[in-house]
Amino acid sequence: MPRPTEPPVDMLPVEDALQRILDLCEPLPAETRPIDDAVGQVLTEPITAPFDIPPHDNTAMDGYAVQSASTDGASERAPLRLRVIGELAAGYLYDGAVGPGEAVRIMTGAPMPDGADTIVPFEETDEQGLRAPGQQHGEIADVGILKAAAPGNNIRRRGEDVRQGDRVLERGALLRGPEIAVLASLGVAEVQVARRPRVAILSTGDELLSPGQPPAPGKIYDSNSYGLSALVQQYGGIPSRAGIAADTIEALTAAIQHALADADLLITSAGVSRGDFDVVKEVLVREGAIDFWTVRMKPGKPLAFGRFTAPDGRRVPHIGLPGNPVSSLLAFELFGRLAIHKLMGREPQPRPVLRAIAEDDIINTDARRVYARATMERHADGRWHARLTGPQGSGVLTSMALANGYAVCPEDAERVRAGEECDVIMVDWEHPTD
Ligand code: AMP
Ligand code: MG
Repeated sequence: MPRPTEPPVDMLPVEDALQRILDLCEPLPAETRPIDDAVGQVLTEPITAPFDIPPHDNTAMDGYAVQSASTDGASERAPLRLRVIGELAAGYLYDGAVGPGEAVRIMTGAPMPDGADTIVPFEETDEQGLRAPGQQHGEIADVGILKAAAPGNNIRRRGEDVRQGDRVLERGALLRGPEIAVLASLGVAEVQVARRPRVAILSTGDELLSPGQPPAPGKIYDSNSYGLSALVQQYGGIPSRAGIAADTIEALTAAIQHALADADLLITSAGVSRGDFDVVKEVLVREGAIDFWTVRMKPGKPLAFGRFTAPDGRRVPHIGLPGNPVSSLLAFELFGRLAIHKLMGREPQPRPVLRAIAEDDIINTDARRVYARATMERHADGRWHARLTGPQGSGVLTSMALANGYAVCPEDAERVRAGEECDVIMVDWEHPTD
C-alpha cells in the first residue's frame, strides 16, 4: 500500500478533474422568462434602469408635509399651529402647493407636495396619528407642531436607490428574491436568462429495484437516481430519471441513446470502477468520447467523464458516477453541482469552507483526499466543531443524510486527529436533524 506521503502518479487531483469537466460544459442558450418564473436562473443581459427609483421625492413617514420655516421655534410647551389644507395618500399627487403656516396630512410613500420641504411625523405633532371615527381630513382644521423640523427630514429623494441609466444587475447575476424585486421595481416583466439544464439520470445494474417494487432476494433499491435527481433540482437543473438499465450492452446502449435525446447533461451511476467488467465501461468507450479517471478522493475514486453525441448531433457531457451511494452523491456534489452552474450561465460557486475542530479522527489510508461526513456545530467557545456522522463506508448512505458538511483530510496527511483543526466544506448551514 502506498504511504500517504508518496502520491500515486496515476490519480487525478480533484481540482484537475473538476477543471476538465467544467471545460466541456458550455452555458446553454438564453430564453425569455417571466420574472416570477426565473428564480434561480442567471441573466444573460445586463439590466439598465429606465427611470429613477424612487421616481419622485416622497415621504418616509406618516405625518405632515410643511415648510420647515413654519416650524421654527416649535416646542412641546409652545406648539405652533399650522392650517391643514389637505390630505395625501400614497399613489396620488397633491394638486396645489404648501405655503407658510400650512400643512398637508401625508402618508408614507406619497410624493412630496410642491412648496413643502420637510415632513413632521405624527409623533411630533399633537395628533399622534389618531383621528376620530368617521372624521374626514377636512374636519381637521389645524395641527400643533411640537418640534422644529429641519429641511429634508423624513424625505426619500428621487433616485436615491437607483438613477436612470444605472446598470442595476449585471449579466451573470443569479436571480434570487431581491434581484427579482429589483426587476419588478423597474417595471421589467420578462428577462433573458440562460436555460436551465435538463439532466438525464440513468442508473445501471441488474441488482436494482425501484422504490415501490416489492423487495426481492439479492436485489437492492436504486437510491442513486432519486438522490441525484433531488440534488439536480436543488442546484437549479431540471432532472429526468431515465430509469434503470440492465447490465447488457444492448440495454445500456438503448437507454443512453434514449436519455440523450432530451438532455443537456447525462449522469450515470455505477459500472465505472477499475477492474470490474461491468458493461457500462464498454458501452461508454464504444459510444462516447470518454475518459476513465481515478480521482484522488475518498469516497468517489472511480469517475468517468466525456461526451456523447445525441441523436440530433449535440455533444452532451456525461459524468459517470461511481455506484456506491455515498461516492455517487458526494462526487455529484463536488463536480455535478458546479457543472450545472456552468451550464446555467453561472460562475461556478464552490461551497464555503470553514476551519473547524475535528471531534473525531479522520483517517487517510491511501493518500487520497478524504471527505468525511460531519455535522457542524458552533460551540460555546465560539469555534465550529465537526463531528463525524458514524461509520464512513462508501455504502453508508445515512452518513450523508446526517451531515451538513464534509470534513477534509488532505491527501498528503495520514490523519486529522480529534482536537486538531481541519477544513470543512459546508453543504448546508442548517442542521438536517434539527
Ligand atoms: P458498481 O459501480 O456497479 O460496482 O457498484 C458499486 C456498488 O454500488 C454496488 O454495491 C452496487 O450494488 C451499488 N449501486 C450501484 N448502483 C446503485 C444505485 N443506483 N443505488 C444504490 N446502490 C447502487
Ligand atoms: Mg454494477
